[in-house]
Amino acid sequence: MKTFWTNFSSGLPGVTVIVTQQDSNGTIVGLGDAALLSEARGADRVEDLEGLFVAPGFWDSHFHLLDYGRSFRRLRFDAQANRSTVLNQVRAEAARVAPGEWIIGGGWNKESFEAPPHWSLLDEASPNHPVLLMSLDYHTAWVNRLGAQRLGIDEREEAELVRDPHGQWTGILHETRAFRAQEEAMRQDDSHLLTDLKRGVREAQRRGLVGVTTMEDRFGLLALQDLGADERMLRVQVFLRDRHAPSLLDAGIRAGFGDDFLRLFGIKRFMDGALGSQTAWMKSPYETGTGNRGMGLLTEGDLREEARMLAEQGLLVAVHAIGDQAVSAAVSALRSVAPGPGGRRSRIEHAQLIDTVDLDVIQGSALALSMQPVHLLFDRPIADRHWGDRSRHAFRFRDILARGVPLIFGSDAPVADADPVPGLWAAVHRGAPIEEPWYSEQRLTAEEAIWAYTRGPALVDARPAGLLQVGLWGDFTLWRTDPREALIHREYDALAVAGTVVAGRRIW
Ligand SMILES: [Zn+2]
Repeated sequence: MKTFWTNFSSGLPGVTVIVTQQDSNGTIVGLGDAALLSEARGADRVEDLEGLFVAPGFWDSHFHLLDYGRSFRRLRFDAQANRSTVLNQVRAEAARVAPGEWIIGGGWNKESFEAPPHWSLLDEASPNHPVLLMSLDYHTAWVNRLGAQRLGIDEREEAELVRDPHGQWTGILHETRAFRAQEEAMRQDDSHLLTDLKRGVREAQRRGLVGVTTMEDRFGLLALQDLGADERMLRVQVFLRDRHAPSLLDAGIRAGFGDDFLRLFGIKRFMDGALGSQTAWMKSPYETGTGNRGMGLLTEGDLREEARMLAEQGLLVAVHAIGDQAVSAAVSALRSVAPGPGGRRSRIEHAQLIDTVDLDVIQGSALALSMQPVHLLFDRPIADRHWGDRSRHAFRFRDILARGVPLIFGSDAPVADADPVPGLWAAVHRGAPIEEPWYSEQRLTAEEAIWAYTRGPALVDARPAGLLQVGLWGDFTLWRTDPREALIHREYDALAVAGTVVAGRRIW
């Protein structure tokens, strides 16, 4: 059986009909004009796309699917919210949620705070609920007394806590300690696991995504295996959080374990912190501050050795590296790492600041750069303040493509929403619709930005997809109008997803 897709535009000359086979991937078997319709047989279906624009399926290459689903029932703070606004939201949530239950939220931004956060303020807003609030970049956690108790944090014992000048804990956790706290709080609050994951899948589909590369812990992986056939109509590639590497290898997991809808790719590692928390690892100190160069969370040697072990089984690494020193160390460790089956590439995630010497090394390697253009919109003022003139090498999309290095885009949802529209816009215009472009020499064309969401990831991941071409998977993102035109003519409102097709099936 086949599906004949009609009444659409696609930018492909002479193509008014697309034919997909009703096999497991909805393979494209025909592209042409109305004459193709004469091949339709009794059992075949004709789908009228009502004038929409058909683009290859959009893929988000850096995602947190379970967390994204969770974020819809969690407190969300605006990046511009000041401290009292955040505390008022917590107060309102505490009035709504049964005492004793977790209040978990995210998105607070210390750059917008009039004074620093402290556990006592959260205690005052919410004395009867454990509270954990993640910062905008997710690398800092703010916890109240009850939260600390539930997380088993011993203020006298722990060396990793952030303390005031008198040695008292402030209620703030950074980096690996913050991640551990987040994971533990979510574990205690995980009765909604499968519901949350399904919500994440549905919201991703609604934004036109046909697939995501997602960073999950064991809860995410467990829930993914519980999805029913219908709910699996979002393709998912998984990088597991770091500490699972040895057990994965011990269990005999090899590259590509899974199928075309759920596949294990490898391990996610953290080389450094983040810009917003000034923990991204830098070659020279931040502009503001006392010689701070951020923090390296992993040594080059350890990463090299782990990547080598994983590569023996064809598994990949995705290394979070934001500061120029972190990128440099990650690149040195991975410069000769072998590609996985079919040429699948290991990748550096975020790579927000890249020194030119390191970009040259990436060019000669089998690595890909996985970046999130939408972050440029809120990181721009922070980079200007903390990186100063070095920001000319931040989000250097043009330089990357000019060297032929594969560039793939994503959102890091729920750090940013999964909607590809603001990301496309940021890649092409280097700013929000009303803003002047930021280092405009690094702008991409509309065509290039779309490539980094479609064909780029398909090549990097060795998937036969990402183009409207016979033999490739029938994954499409439907747009209200041609997104290239909307981008070129700066028509933000016209840039809207209107449907998703996965494996030859219309999802909405
Ligand atoms: Zn992430």
